Amino acid sequence: MAQVYDKVALIGLGLIASSMCHAIRRAGLAREIAGYARSAETRATARDIGLCDIVTDTAAEAVKDADLVVLCVPVGAMEAVARDIGPHLKQGATLSDVGSVKRAVIDAVAPFVPEGVHFIPAHPLAGTEHSGPRSGFAELFDNRFCILVPVAGTEPAAVTRLADLWRGIGSNVDEMDADHHDLVLAVTSHTPHLIAYTMVGVADELRRVTDSEVIKYSAAGFRDFTRIAASDPTMWRDVFLHNKDATLEILGRFTEELFALQRAIRLGDGDHLHAYFTRTRSIRRSIIEAGQDTDAPDFGRKPAAKRE
Ligand code: NAP
Repeated sequence: MAQVYDKVALIGLGLIASSMCHAIRRAGLAREIAGYARSAETRATARDIGLCDIVTDTAAEAVKDADLVVLCVPVGAMEAVARDIGPHLKQGATLSDVGSVKRAVIDAVAPFVPEGVHFIPAHPLAGTEHSGPRSGFAELFDNRFCILVPVAGTEPAAVTRLADLWRGIGSNVDEMDADHHDLVLAVTSHTPHLIAYTMVGVADELRRVTDSEVIKYSAAGFRDFTRIAASDPTMWRDVFLHNKDATLEILGRFTEELFALQRAIRLGDGDHLHAYFTRTRSIRRSIIEAGQDTDAPDFGRKPAAKRE
């Protein structure tokens, strides 16, 4: 694929940014990638592994002359980073992000976007439970969706260009309104993570985890929960603090359904349970048929060579 941007700057060098680096290089989508991370340790690691063409000691240096700047930090850190880099953005540049929540990021970042800079929020729907600059891999976004959330009045050509980058990275691209995005993600990602965190917490409360019984006898269900519940605590704290309304709405519905199942168990209503589980099984099949997951034990999140 042809080059889409001359210089790309990635602010934050964790899982998502490092995967973007690998994928952009794989397809030759930029002439130069500059990166900046908050800690000297992360910057040193990024330099050691040759993640970017240049790793700078300030965010301002990284974004200088960049045609595309992508904020790859936790949702709660977006505002401070935008304030820091705003005055250094090039006229005509595109500013984007990869945050898992969109309305709160738009509200936090938009005030710092100078006139003449295109602000196009985005969210790649791909991830693993690993963090940091060493955790990235080029295939992370292959055949996943990247949702673009352009704000009203954004130049269509700038949106098309960013969409071209994400397609070159390997993703399918869709556009959505910020509030709709936050509700959909509350259903498909945020609430499931909270449920996984809770289930692992419940098992830990039983204190059988520490004497290894839960680990020793864990079937796929609990193991899958522990994998999800190993996700970065800062990132997920910020997701819930910044997608509060949608998450609370979905949690309310979840609780109602859970009570209905609890009641069916208490009443011995096997028909209710069987019908419910039959319906949910068909949803799993349709996700696999849509190519958004595989039957692999790790849900196909990593290429075969990288599975642990
Ligand atoms: P990560 O691996 O934990 O990396 C986060 C990066 O942000 C690190 O470079 C870190 O710097 C930096 N950072 C953390 N707190 C900061 C702060 N207060 N100020 C400035 N920089 C800060 O995270 P990630 O998984 O790549 O996630 C990055 C973004 O992508 C988040 O907004 C997340 O919601 C979104 N996202 C994540 C996933 C996923 O599954 N992981 C999927 C889609 C979207 P140091 O290393 O120097 O501390």
